[in-house]
Amino acid sequence: MAQPDIVVVGAGLAGLATAWHLAPHARVLVVDQAQQPGAEASSQNAGMVRRLGDDPFERALAVRTAAWMADPGPDWPAPPPSRITGAVLGLGLDPHHLNDAVAHLRARSIVVEALCAPAEVAEVAVALRGAPLVGAWWLPDERVADAWTLLQGFGAGLKRHGGELRCRTRILGLQRTADRIVGIDTDRGSIQADRIVLATGAWSAALARAHGLHRPLIPLRRTLLQSTPHPCSHPDHPWVWIDDVGLYARPEAGGWLVSGCDEAVDPPDPGPGSRGGLEPGPRALAASKLDRWLPALADAELRSGWTGLRTFAPDRRPVLGEDPDLRGLWWVAGLGGFGVTCSYAAGEAVATWMMGDQTPWLSPRAVSPGRSFLRRWPIRPHGDLATSELIDAPEQPQDLERGGGR
Ligand SMILES: Cc1cc2nc3c(=O)[nH]c(=O)nc-3n(C[C@H](O)[C@H](O)[C@H](O)COP(=O)(O)OP(=O)(O)OC[C@H]3O[C@@H](n4cnc5c(N)ncnc54)[C@H](O)[C@@H]3O)c2cc1C
Repeated sequence: MAQPDIVVVGAGLAGLATAWHLAPHARVLVVDQAQQPGAEASSQNAGMVRRLGDDPFERALAVRTAAWMADPGPDWPAPPPSRITGAVLGLGLDPHHLNDAVAHLRARSIVVEALCAPAEVAEVAVALRGAPLVGAWWLPDERVADAWTLLQGFGAGLKRHGGELRCRTRILGLQRTADRIVGIDTDRGSIQADRIVLATGAWSAALARAHGLHRPLIPLRRTLLQSTPHPCSHPDHPWVWIDDVGLYARPEAGGWLVSGCDEAVDPPDPGPGSRGGLEPGPRALAASKLDRWLPALADAELRSGWTGLRTFAPDRRPVLGEDPDLRGLWWVAGLGGFGVTCSYAAGEAVATWMMGDQTPWLSPRAVSPGRSFLRRWPIRPHGDLATSELIDAPEQPQDLERGGGR
C-alpha cells in the first residue's frame, strides 16, 4: 500500500473490527507489534457474549454486536462467529442485582426470565444444581463467540477491500503538530497519515501519556482455569456467571473453563507480549468459590489455564472516538471484559464517526476519551463487589505498581 488514509494500531478485536468497517471507505493499514493478529487479550478471553451488563453504553454495544452475530450477512467470509448456548446470571447475595439492566433488555424485546426456585435453576443449568442462590436471570438466546473466527473474518474482509495487515511492526510514538496527528514512528520507519486509530489494549495509556495525553486506562490481570473432563459439561450447556460473587464457568473441552474473577493491576512493559504465569492465589480463589457457590462442579479439577489483561477506564465504560485534545487520534480502547461482546459495534461506532456520520444508538460524548474520569476507583481483587479496593487512577503509567492493587 502506498500511503494509507488511516493507520490502525493494534490487530486485536478492537483494531480489526474497526479496520473491517473502515476498509470499504478508505485505504486502511493495520500494524501490530506481535507476530500475528489477536496475540493478546483477544485470544485470551472466555468468549462469552454478555448483554446483561451494568453499564447502559456497554449494553448498547453488546446488543448491537449480538444482533450482528445472529446474522453476520452474506459478506461474512468465515464460519459463523458465535452460537447460542443460553446463559444464567446467578445472584448469590443481592436479589435486585442487574434489575435495571434486565428492564432495559426486556424493553428491547430480549428474553430475560427470572428463575426463583432452585429446581427451576437446576433444570436450565445442571452446573447450578445445589447452588445457594437468591435468584437468577435466564437468557435463553445468549451466545458464546469464537474470537479466532472473529479475528479471521475481520482480517479477511480488510484484505478483500484492499487493506493491509502488517505484523511485527511496533509503534514507538505519534508524529504530531500542536493540535493534530500527522503520522506515527515505528521500529520499521515512519508512516504518514492524518488519522490514527489507537487500538492498543493494555498499552494504550502509556502510548498516549508520552504525548501529554492523560487517559487513565488500567490493565487488570485475570485468570482462567481449565478443568479436566467433567460429567456435567456439555457443549450446549449455558454459561453460568454468579455476578455479585464473581465466579463464572462455561463448558470447554469436555470440562469447564472457570474464573474466580480475580483482578490485579499489571501494566505490561513496552514491546510485544504481556503473558503472566498462573499464580496459586487466583487458583485457590476459584476452587473455594466453586466449593461454595457451584457445588455441582466442586469436584472439577482445575489443572491448567492462563491469564490475560482486561483494560478498563475508571468508569469501566469503553473509550471510543476522536481525542478532543489531538485531532486525528481516534481511540478504540478500554474494552475491559466485554471486548468480544462489543467488538463489532465498537468498530462500527468509531468507523461511522470517522466517516462523518452519526450513531443514534450510541452517544459519542458518553464514551469520549475526553470525558471526566474519577481519580480513585474500585477494583475487585477477589472478584466480588463486597471486597472492592480503591486505587488511584495513575497520573503516569509507572505509578501503577506491577501486580499490586494500590
Ligand atoms: C481472561 C480474560 C477473559 C475475558 N473474557 C471475555 C468474555 O468472556 N467476553 C468478552 O466479551 N470479553 C472478554 N474479555 C475481554 C476481551 O478479550 C478484550 O476486551 C478484548 O480482547 C480487547 O481487545 P483489544 O483489541 O482492545 O486488545 P488486545 O487484544 O490486547 O489487542 C491490542 C493489540 O495492540 C497491540 N499493540 C500494543 N502496543 C502496540 C505498539 N506499540 N505497536 C503495535 N502494536 C501494539 C498488541 O500487540 C495487541 O495485539 C476477556 C479478557 C480476558 C483477559
